[in-house]
Amino acid sequence: MSEQKQAQQQVVIVGAGMAGVQTAVALREQGFTGPVTLIGAEPHQPYDRPPLSKAILLGKAEDSAFDVDFEALDVELRLGLDVTGLRAADHEIDTEAGPVPYDVLVVATGAHPITLPGAEGVPGVHLLRTLDDAVRLGPVLERRHTVVVVGAGWIGAEFATAAREAGCAVTVVEAADRPLAGALPAEVAAPMAGWYGANGAELLTHARVDTVETGRVVLADGRELPADAVVVGIGARPATGWLAGSGIALDPSGAITADERLRTSLPDVYAVGDCASYPSARYGKRLLVHHWDNALQGPRTVAATITGADTGPYDPVPYFWSEQFGRFVQYAGHHADADELLWRGDPAEDTWSVLWLRAGVPVALLAVGRPRDLAQGRKLIETATAVDPARAADPSVPLKAAVR
Ligand SMILES: Cc1cc2nc3c(=O)[nH]c(=O)nc-3n(C[C@H](O)[C@H](O)[C@H](O)COP(=O)(O)OP(=O)(O)OC[C@H]3O[C@@H](n4cnc5c(N)ncnc54)[C@H](O)[C@@H]3O)c2cc1C
Repeated sequence: MSEQKQAQQQVVIVGAGMAGVQTAVALREQGFTGPVTLIGAEPHQPYDRPPLSKAILLGKAEDSAFDVDFEALDVELRLGLDVTGLRAADHEIDTEAGPVPYDVLVVATGAHPITLPGAEGVPGVHLLRTLDDAVRLGPVLERRHTVVVVGAGWIGAEFATAAREAGCAVTVVEAADRPLAGALPAEVAAPMAGWYGANGAELLTHARVDTVETGRVVLADGRELPADAVVVGIGARPATGWLAGSGIALDPSGAITADERLRTSLPDVYAVGDCASYPSARYGKRLLVHHWDNALQGPRTVAATITGADTGPYDPVPYFWSEQFGRFVQYAGHHADADELLWRGDPAEDTWSVLWLRAGVPVALLAVGRPRDLAQGRKLIETATAVDPARAADPSVPLKAAVR
């Protein structure tokens, strides 16, 4: 885009989370000189979410506001403002404060946590997505309440970790036969189940919630669990309800179906972060990634496409981390189409990794307390470099030295 044209283009970003903020930052880093407006529904200074289930919950940090000087970047911040609709033909969005015109629109509205049917509005039932949620949960930990966590996924495990550290009695209720059932195969998740008990949290699998009442959770098999507080961590859905009627293409999960440059089906409208899926040539399928690194990297592609720099298709190796039960867990790649799984180390020990291969080439890696494996494995995945399975399965051999 020419500098003259840029100077006239009004970029409006909806959603002031990681992806929205990073889009504003990337636009300026890439030399965009036109006006940029960043609109967010939450009233708080834009902040980072991962600390919410870690340091903030435990009162070890007060906030996690991004270290970004919006004034210096000449980015107009409009906080506490809900965007309610998109009229693409008019190049306008609707907000609670009236319509806002755009030349280029970036949708970065993230995801909403899924609520537990029947538990909405019951006193003592919590979600954990926003700073306000974390602040509301602070007293639960401070007062060492008896807590029932619904869902043994990433958020459930992290909340259970913090609650145990604070001295709460914790029971985790999981409908599947293991933790992280949607994310990892049974043999890999199995050793993680032991982490709960070892840290004093009770994990109940094959356990379905029937009803949630003030003070207790009743399971489908009739068991009753006392609960001063209930924390629901059963996943999140793209926050795209406000786009109903706009004509934008969504997939059945509600994610905006962006293309390989994160453009949507509507002209001059982009989508990035937790609210959008994109086609991955690397994995031969569309991916919807609900992790921090995707909300960091996607905005660079959006900004490059807007400014005309075109850095190529968006197709990174997905990456995330989780801190649970004293362990640093990292994952890179996508293992669904792997044809071989290698263990590096004994999962009964504190540190181990799992490497997934397809035709001898690494496609994904899970590392528990082995960040070097993660760093080296991620590079092998990125470059599709074949490894010798026998050496790759030897934890004393650095992964980069297992190249065939
Ligand atoms: C508690 C917690 C812990 C996490 N820990 C990790 C971790 O350890 N590792 C990891 O890799 N990932 C982690 N994640 C995931 C990571 O934080 C998300 O992937 C990331 O925040 C996505 O960024 P985003 O900008 O796409 O969406 P969000 O962060 O959800 O931001 C979207 C923003 O848009 C706003 N918005 C929504 N609708 C509207 C509207 N209609 N009008 C105006 N504004 C709107 C929302 O209020 C929100 O502020 C964690 C997430 C949570 C909730």
